[in-house]
Amino acid sequence: MTTPYIITLGTAGGPRWWTPADAAPRFGISTAVVVGDRSYLVDAGLGAGRQFTRAGLDFSQLGGIFLTHLHSDHTTDLANLALFGMFRLPDASTPIPILGPGDRGVLPPVSPRASVAPRPVAPHLPTPGTADMFRLLMEAYATDLNDRVLDALRPSPLDLFDARDIAVPADCGYHPNEAPTPDMAPFCVFEDDRVRVDAILVEHPPIAPAFAFRFTCDEGSVAISGDTAQTANMARLADDVDLLLHEAISFDWVEHTYGDPQDETARASYDHHHKSHTSVVEAAEVARDAGARALAVHHLVPGSLDAASWHRAAAKATALTGTDVVVPDDLDRLSFTRSAARVSA
Ligand SMILES: [Zn+2]
Ligand SMILES: [Zn+2]
Repeated sequence: MTTPYIITLGTAGGPRWWTPADAAPRFGISTAVVVGDRSYLVDAGLGAGRQFTRAGLDFSQLGGIFLTHLHSDHTTDLANLALFGMFRLPDASTPIPILGPGDRGVLPPVSPRASVAPRPVAPHLPTPGTADMFRLLMEAYATDLNDRVLDALRPSPLDLFDARDIAVPADCGYHPNEAPTPDMAPFCVFEDDRVRVDAILVEHPPIAPAFAFRFTCDEGSVAISGDTAQTANMARLADDVDLLLHEAISFDWVEHTYGDPQDETARASYDHHHKSHTSVVEAAEVARDAGARALAVHHLVPGSLDAASWHRAAAKATALTGTDVVVPDDLDRLSFTRSAARVSA
């Protein structure tokens, strides 16, 4: 019997180069799920490839890359993983699946705080999904890649990786603007001889679709929230799970950074963080509601907040909810075997 575990490759959220306030700098959000000799990546934030190798993991045993949503703090190392990872893969390997959200299909609404209508980027393809994003990233590197392919006779990353859009179930009532997080059941997006991966829609407007994933293997299960406000869908996905890895934000920091009532741009960010993210207490409530056997928080925002402050927030959440909260550092290993004790009181 193997002992499945996750490795927190990067635990900071947000599109920032956080300047750490203590001695434990955090890389961008990325998590490895390790089952036997196979590993799977969830999100590809800043430094994901570097951390993957620092964790002692082997690209030739990479079973798949899963993107919760297409915000840059979850995808900025995706090109790196392919462009550098291609040199660590056997030439004739089976393509590694990259699974993530499809094309949004429609632009998000403009903030009511806008004084002039903003111009969208790339109006001919303003909301590309995972397959288009990966293809466009590789095309942007065609000068480099054609050196590798034509001169060094390396296989193309477009053959080494297979980027695909996850289809949202047609009957769940989803609409990117009107109903981004309908009540729904988890649905299977991937299965191999080691794991089954289920997804559910979570609440992270205006981006849509935004997924959480649950990995289930013979020995246990782990649910990873992606970015989300507190949502019943997350508790549904994490029902009786052995480990819940949930995002967490400091709303004190949001207030301090974006709280100026006279600054409409700051207030737009203030609104976004409150409707799209989760406090440590709320994450503990989700774990309690789900009956999760253990809870850890990651995607910590701000990534510069010292560890002692996060541990204080975790202690407060435990006092309020009766749920223990682990605050991992980067490169920590957390087991998700079925034998793990339930943490809820
Ligand atoms: Zn994020
Ligand atoms: Zn996000």
